[in-house]
This record gives sequence, C-alpha cells and structure tokens, in this order.
Amino acid sequence: MTAKSHGSLRVVGLGPGPSAWLTEEASQALATAEHVLGYQTYLSRLPELAGKTLHGSDNGDELERARHALALAAEGAHVVIVSGGDPGVFGMAAAVFEAIEQGPAALRSLDIAVVPGVTAMLAAAARLGAPLGNDFCTLNLSDNLKPWATIEKRLSLAAQADFVLALYNPASKARTEQVHAAFDVLRRHRTPSAIVVFAKAVGRPDEELLVTTLGAADPAVADMRTLILVGAASTRRIERPLGPPWVYTPRRSIEAP
Ligand code: SAH
Repeated sequence: MTAKSHGSLRVVGLGPGPSAWLTEEASQALATAEHVLGYQTYLSRLPELAGKTLHGSDNGDELERARHALALAAEGAHVVIVSGGDPGVFGMAAAVFEAIEQGPAALRSLDIAVVPGVTAMLAAAARLGAPLGNDFCTLNLSDNLKPWATIEKRLSLAAQADFVLALYNPASKARTEQVHAAFDVLRRHRTPSAIVVFAKAVGRPDEELLVTTLGAADPAVADMRTLILVGAASTRRIERPLGPPWVYTPRRSIEAP
C-alpha cells in the first residue's frame, strides 16, 4: 500500500446531540468529506450529507471500521470517521491509532487529525451547574474490552479517593448486571447522602436528569444513553422552584478525604 499525498482522515467528534454542540471544525470536516464512516444512528443525525458516500454500520468492530477508513484515505479520498461526543473519550480515535500502529508503515505518512467534540460528561455537567468543579475521575463501566475485576478495583479506589465520578457506559441491553455491582462498590465507600445523577440522552429531545442520592438511587434506571455522576463529599445541591436542583462541587477542598 502506498499513501497518496492528497488523501486525508479526520476523526470527528459530533458532540452529544444537537448541532449547537457541533464545533465549527467538525462541521467543516464533514462538509469537505467524500466518505463518512460511523454508526448508522450518528450518520442519520447529520444534515447535508448529499453527494457523500456513507458507510453506516451497526456492528461494534471499531478496529475494522478504522482500517476501512485508513484504506480509503490511503487511496486518496477525503475521509471522516465519526464518534459521538469526543472521539478520544471511549470513541473511535484510539481504534484509528491502534490500526495505524499495527498497519503498513505508509499509513504513518497520511494526513490524519482528530477533531475534538463535547463529551457527554461536560454536556451533563453544564446542564446541572458545576458538578465537576473539583477533581474528578472518569470510568467506563463496560467490561466488553476489559475484565470486570479491573473496573471494580478502579471504581473502588476512585470512590475511596473522594473524586467526583463520571461513569460512562453503565448498561446496555446485553449488560444489565454491572451497574448494580458498581453501586454495591460505591455504597461500600460513600455515604448514602452522596449525590447521584442519572443524566439520560443529554441534548436529545428525550433528555432526562434525575438528581438523587446514593441511598435512594435505583441503578436500573441507567441505560446505554445514560451518564452517571457521583458527587464527592463536598458536592452540593441547590434546590430551585423550576427544574431539577443545581449541583456543584466547590473548587476549594477543605478536608482531606
Ligand atoms: N465518545 C463519547 C462516549 C462514548 S461511550 C463521548 O465523548 O461522549 C457511550 C456512553 O457515553 C454512553 O453509554 C453514555 O454513558 C455516554 N453518553 C453518550 N452520549 C450521551 C448523552 N447524550 N447523554 C448522556 N450520556 C451519553
């Protein structure tokens, strides 16, 4: 395989949903693309894809999709591969670099760039106020690509360190037990009054924000479009008459955990 100089690959973050959260750079990359690859649900959300070759997929083989995108770019095409949110946060960017590292050396001369997007935890945080105002830790609860024991250990240590937690991928149709096991871990290390938020489909028409406590939380409400936030000991809520409470974590930490 020889890389022609005029091909390009942009790994583009689409943000969590609405086009207001699509960056200018992402819009421009999409506008000039000849080929667009990604999950079909993401592709069907995009406006103005007329004239482009779309490669929608429903399967989870991200490495295969990354190789396909790289092969098209190496043939000289302008290619975009999309991810929801930010492509570097549990998204396509890592698969692209894995494919480059394992692939022919010519791939390393291609014009490749990552275009960042608004990741789900930032969108959810903005809706709530400032829950990520102090140190936080982000974990992916899916055990599709790593052993559950690893997740449990990281979750346990992060809970003990009193980080605010942002938990991606809490559940899917096939994965319903893990989120219950995760809450068992959290309840061992955090008080029942700890603030818990289930932020569902943020930015989509069916967005829901449920602000509750660790003691009252029902992990079964989490699905594959839910991000879970768990407050630190210092995280606070401000009730307001209209809408869910504001949630914020003061920037000043007073006590050691
Ligand atoms: N790259 C994406 C994350 C992919 S992992 C990003 O940066 O946001 C998929 C997980 O992201 C989901 O299971 C959910 O936990 C979270 N997520 C993605 N979009 C979301 C949204 N609109 N609202 C709430 N959570 C979302």
